[in-house]
Amino acid sequence: MTSHGATQNGKLVVVGSLAIDTIETQGNRAAGVLGGAATYFAVAASFFAPVQIVGVVGDDFPQDELDWFRSRGIDLSGLEVRAGKTMRWTGRYHEDMNVRDTLSFEANVFDGYLPTLPAAYCDAPFVFLANIAPALQARVLDQMRAPRLVGADTMNFYIEGARADLERLLRRVPLLIINDEEARLLSGERNMVRAARKVLELGPTSLMIKRGEYGVLFFSGNSVFSAPAYPLEEVFDPTGAGDTFAGGVMGYLAATGDVSPAGIRKAIVYGSVVASFTVEAFSLDRLRTLTRDDIERRYRQFVSLTSFDVADASA
Ligand code: AMP
Repeated sequence: MTSHGATQNGKLVVVGSLAIDTIETQGNRAAGVLGGAATYFAVAASFFAPVQIVGVVGDDFPQDELDWFRSRGIDLSGLEVRAGKTMRWTGRYHEDMNVRDTLSFEANVFDGYLPTLPAAYCDAPFVFLANIAPALQARVLDQMRAPRLVGADTMNFYIEGARADLERLLRRVPLLIINDEEARLLSGERNMVRAARKVLELGPTSLMIKRGEYGVLFFSGNSVFSAPAYPLEEVFDPTGAGDTFAGGVMGYLAATGDVSPAGIRKAIVYGSVVASFTVEAFSLDRLRTLTRDDIERRYRQFVSLTSFDVADASA
């Protein structure tokens, strides 16, 4: 174990956005804070496994955040720093925090960016294609030699704006991790079970659907698994919950190498645990002080939250 709790098993490559966010909730606002799908994912996964980031930031990206990533064992040799501005996103949450509006989005240095992976990344057994244009996700996948497990996420912006690229990508992605609205948009179905069936026809063999406070549904072949969300009294900022869920799932799978159905179920609970911490504060702030012990404690609470007597149930 290293000091931050990650084991040195299978490496995990992630490509996706690194951004500066401005977030508005009904009562609070945080401007110019750390964001981006790859950022949330990498920090969450680094509690479990060594992570290698692919992406680009501008020369305005805070040096102390890069130092923080390195201190967590995150490999930044695939991160380009280009002259210009880092990606920027502003979002506002409704009173119902499952609903949010994008107020502004600037791709900035991601415009025209073509990722080239360092040689040391290409043999990684696990790869996650976090939110970014599907053509960029595909370019990263092209450079991986023979990954054991490829996971991916996408969002409304790309489902609506880059559908053809996305459909081409999905034929190469065994594990898709998206939220309920994205599953609806991708499939044209409201019902989650029907939506899942249609999404699985697009290529992935397994699908995790994140449903915010309602938890996660996992579909693979004929099996379905359901995990609740950890019941929290207050959700402060849901930004990045989905990315940290995916980071927990993939980080745990990379650390254990166990991609059996039982291993995946445990990974889903670890992902749910990390996501439940993320939403307790703005941006990645809660993850800055989180420890592996905190994660294990809440994992055990999750187990007792969902255990019931099978004998009683069948009586
Ligand atoms: P999530 O809450 O999991 O949907 O992720 C939020 C993160 O996605 C924020 O930190 C944003 O910086 C980032 N983001 C917003 N729009 C985009 C986009 N079009 N492409 C990639 N990342 C984005």
